[in-house]
Amino acid sequence: MLENKVAVITGGTRGIGLETVKVFKENKANVILFGSRKETVDQSIQKLKKENIEVDGFYPDLMNEEEIAKVIEKIINKYGHIDILVNNAGISANKKIEDTTTEEFTKIMDLNVKAMFNTIKTVTPYMKKNKGGVILNTSSMVSIYGQPSGVGYPTSKFAVNGLTKSLARELAPFNIRVNAVAPGITNTDMVAKLPKEMIEPLIKTIPLGRIGEPRDIANAFLFLGSDMANYITGVILSVDGAARS
Ligand code: NAD
Repeated sequence: MLENKVAVITGGTRGIGLETVKVFKENKANVILFGSRKETVDQSIQKLKKENIEVDGFYPDLMNEEEIAKVIEKIINKYGHIDILVNNAGISANKKIEDTTTEEFTKIMDLNVKAMFNTIKTVTPYMKKNKGGVILNTSSMVSIYGQPSGVGYPTSKFAVNGLTKSLARELAPFNIRVNAVAPGITNTDMVAKLPKEMIEPLIKTIPLGRIGEPRDIANAFLFLGSDMANYITGVILSVDGAARS
């Protein structure tokens, strides 16, 4: 489904991002993964190599436009174009508002929103030059109704939806589609960190009776990234077993 496409996936070293790397490779894309540190990027590349999966990897500071620009230029020099950008890097929060520091709130907004703005801003001119592209953002189920603690996280994901819908309109004339996937609770390290008391009652509310697997989310990225979704833009696709209410 992605033959000859070049895809950059942020937060590609584990969880949903790593699974998206695998699914994109199974579908013949050239994939470049981004992670936060050299060690984790190197480890992921080595692990993938053992499964006969070849990818390039970088670890630009996603808060630093210049660093991102340098890495994107390297990718363009090697591959000539970027067809798909998956903005998946993200962190969560679960503290009550009185216990949340301004720094913690800012940190989550910086990675979940500002970093996304930075990568999109850098890649868009190349997509425009190439007469098209696909930008996919990771939102969350909590971008619809919020969550009972950790207010920075849903706040950031509401912003992701706003950014997605607005840029879909702005970039449509350039044949650049912008969509988001809103996962429900998904079986990754991010969820393993959350307290059991928070997860178990939530599972009971999921009509499909289970939490999501990273592949459930990666498959949604695959569809939206492929030409099968050529007339879909500005959509926030819930992949949550109908848990969103
Ligand atoms: P994860 O913690 O397993 O992976 C997060 C990824 O983000 C890692 O690859 C990590 O390298 C990257 N990352 C973290 N901090 C970074 C930083 N400062 N700079 C660059 N990269 C950084 O998480 P996951 O569950 O796979 O989450 C991936 C995305 O899915 C996130 O945007 C998250 O908000 C979203 N999401 C997850 C769930 C869930 O239940 N797991 C639900 C809804 C949405």
